[in-house]
Amino acid sequence: MRLYEFEGKSLFKKYEIPIPEGRTAAGINEVAQIVRELNKPVVIKAQVLTGGRGKAGGVKFADNADTAQSVAENLFNLKIKGYPVNLLLVEPKYEIKREFYIGVTIDRANYKLVVVASGEGGVDIEETAEKHPEKIVKKTLSVQQELYTFEALEIAKQIGITSEHLKTVARIIVNLYLMFKATDAKLVEINPLVLTADNQLIAADSRVSLDDDALFRHPELKAMGIEKRHEEGEMTSREKQATEWGIPYLDLDGDIGMFPGGAGFGIMGNDFIHYYGGQPANFMDSGGGPSPERIAKMLVLLDENPDVKAIFGARFGGISRCDDFAKGVVMFLKEHGLSKPIVMRMTGNMWQEGVKIFQDAKNENPELFEKVEFHGIETPIEEISRRAVELAGMKGGN
Ligand code: GDP
Ligand code: MN
Repeated sequence: MRLYEFEGKSLFKKYEIPIPEGRTAAGINEVAQIVRELNKPVVIKAQVLTGGRGKAGGVKFADNADTAQSVAENLFNLKIKGYPVNLLLVEPKYEIKREFYIGVTIDRANYKLVVVASGEGGVDIEETAEKHPEKIVKKTLSVQQELYTFEALEIAKQIGITSEHLKTVARIIVNLYLMFKATDAKLVEINPLVLTADNQLIAADSRVSLDDDALFRHPELKAMGIEKRHEEGEMTSREKQATEWGIPYLDLDGDIGMFPGGAGFGIMGNDFIHYYGGQPANFMDSGGGPSPERIAKMLVLLDENPDVKAIFGARFGGISRCDDFAKGVVMFLKEHGLSKPIVMRMTGNMWQEGVKIFQDAKNENPELFEKVEFHGIETPIEEISRRAVELAGMKGGN
């Protein structure tokens, strides 16, 4: 879970890493008020859950309350990589002599923690790592290990901190490492750590990502207003609806609605659809043993998506049963109706019963099944995929 800059900085403060005396504002008058109270030039920063705000025009300066107000107005109208700007952070502007980078993250390949530092801060660290790997210092530690002051001093020296600031920077590095562990973080970054014209060392930006699964261990974060959240800006309305219903769902760019029984069929169906020249409109997982109600909801997501031209369905009855699957589909057809053609196949646990449920329902209400083609084990999954592509109006087969 990514934190906003101001949230990350509030954690820095708790771990005695110096930060600017800033405040957040949700409106332009509030921004002007803060600037009047600070009574000095400020930096105004868009609070969005993405990096590279500087380059995207999300970090601006102002010398007085009036300028600040118009700068703020522009910022509130900005979208940064698709994210709307609803909150600004207003801080005193510092004269910067030098910018450094300090971070702690997980080295997944080696099951270790790694402290990363560089004398080239303020820029994209990934870019530095690629173009000038020699400008990056890394210190790998096991999860149990402490980072000792002498080691932090060594890192500080290697990134070009001069002797008068070594102790201060070493303390910041040690504290950042402590914070990383104590908050169950996945990533903590100060970029840039700035050396100001009056020789202060200050964390001018924060990037913090915490482990969602460990949040329950941290009531203190909730007390600070840091709570588990969906990164709303990233979810489509259908993805939000699916999340509410507890259905793992992702929108894609194509026009074939994917209605698989389980993620495995979802991935395989995705491959076959591409193979036959089609494009899936989504990825979805039904989860183990879905109820007929849940099956019906999955179909609602697909049928109400205007991009979907045809639906591909595949159910392998394992833990779940094909008769439950068929009941869910019939329930959906009766209650909601289907506006898109669907081709589906059932095999595995109780598949004959499933096919019979379809057949009976079709005999009873043939009009409900006008757009439905159903198959059992006799039809291979490749054929279902090819047919879905054909139904979507593309050229099927090859
Ligand atoms: P990011 O682009 O999202 O990483 O946002 P940052 O908070 O890192 O800001 C981008 C850049 O703006 C920094 O690297 C600094 O060069 C500059 N900046 C941020 N705060 C200040 C400040 O107080 N004074 C000055 N002069 N520059 C700042
Ligand atoms: Mn930054």
